[in-house]
Amino acid sequence: MTGPTAAPEPAAGDPRTPWSGTVRRTADGSLEVGGLDARALASAYGTPVYVLDEADVRARARAFVTAFTGAFADLAGADVYYASKALASVAVDRWVHEEGMSVDVSTGGELAVALRAGVPGGAIALHGNNKSDGELERALRAGVGRIVVDSLEEVDRLADLAGELGMGAPVMVRVTTGVHAGGHDFIATAHEDQKFGLSLASGAARRAVDAVLARPELTLLGLHSHIGSQILDLSGFEVAAGALLRLRAEVAGDSGTLMPELDLGGGYGISYTGTDAPPPPEQVATALADVVRRACEELGTPPPRVSVEPGRAVVGPAGLTLYRVGTVKPVVLDDGGERRYVSVDGGMSDNIRTALYDADYTATLAGRRSEAPAVASRVVGKHCESGDVVVRDVLLPGDVSRGDLLAVPATGAYGRSMASNYNLVPRPGVLAVRDGQARFVVRPETEDDLLALDVG
Ligand SMILES: *Cc1c(COP(=O)(O)O)cnc(C)c1O
Repeated sequence: MTGPTAAPEPAAGDPRTPWSGTVRRTADGSLEVGGLDARALASAYGTPVYVLDEADVRARARAFVTAFTGAFADLAGADVYYASKALASVAVDRWVHEEGMSVDVSTGGELAVALRAGVPGGAIALHGNNKSDGELERALRAGVGRIVVDSLEEVDRLADLAGELGMGAPVMVRVTTGVHAGGHDFIATAHEDQKFGLSLASGAARRAVDAVLARPELTLLGLHSHIGSQILDLSGFEVAAGALLRLRAEVAGDSGTLMPELDLGGGYGISYTGTDAPPPPEQVATALADVVRRACEELGTPPPRVSVEPGRAVVGPAGLTLYRVGTVKPVVLDDGGERRYVSVDGGMSDNIRTALYDADYTATLAGRRSEAPAVASRVVGKHCESGDVVVRDVLLPGDVSRGDLLAVPATGAYGRSMASNYNLVPRPGVLAVRDGQARFVVRPETEDDLLALDVG
């Protein structure tokens, strides 16, 4: 184990940087994003606040679209879906759609946001292991481009519903291939003990495919797999894609139906602290195109149109959270060392990932320069829970004190979207910044919002 490290300084273009493309230090040491000084943002809009770099979101969306369209041009083409659960907001769905992405939703709420953003139904995919009849019906009426079925029961329920509405339903079958990936590694098991998908090994996936083919209300577009998240090593995708393409070829041989599409899911990793160097979209796209090309040649089947579903990799690095420091408290450790507990004005209600997944984040002093020697610090929130940690270990200047601003990078994904009102703390807004302009795209909650829900 190495000791805590300081946040890396902003370095646009460095593959390891956790900061978005427009973050830089001003001459007097403050942090700037989207052309705006952190001090000005904090005093005008309050803290805590999620700051989202619009140019960075758009650039990441465009990079994925360009990379996949290019790499699959000589196959059957590719589509990139934004997994909107990472940060579902009308503005974000609109930006990424303007940059050429389609949008994944997994609930009625995410569907409503995508539709309000003006994303056409045909560019929306509906996921979920437990979709309600109401959600399926809304998706059908919106004309969604694909519904990813997740159980045998759902196949017949969807077909019945489509029949009642006098509509057809385009369907993909979610397959669990036994490949689980995350970080720098993947594992492969035959049988899966989890709630998503239909298993390849048990034959459930094949039974679902046959069930879809047996229902004239359903059009079988293809197979789908999503193998994990925060994936840095691409080899898990290669194993999963090979397994899906074999099933596709087998179904074609038996039934004469060659599924036109293949969805390889999302889960591409990002840099949270500056130590990981995630593969850029071109490398991901080229690797996946190579696998699909090779497997289809070996199987003697024409290649499918491929889709992928990045969420975190589109919005994660584009967001940072600005907090104001409150209490600072030194705590003596058993080994005689000291850890500085730096309390901020948010915490596990705006970022649950540290507590939930043991996720690593980093933080930096955002409003001024400091020459004070760095001390081992832990950034904690204001909630009544000792696990309320935002950044477990980080070196911060020894003079950090009440009133200072801290910025935590890479909070654009699964921050606001997983936020809660624990301790009745209102959820922060999402402040979009671009070219020196700022505006809330999700406004901050107020105590009145919370009281309005409490009907006594
Ligand atoms: C969560 C999810 C994604 C996106 O995962 P990221 O780690 O945000 O890229 C894509 N597809 C499906 C089916 C998912 O459940």
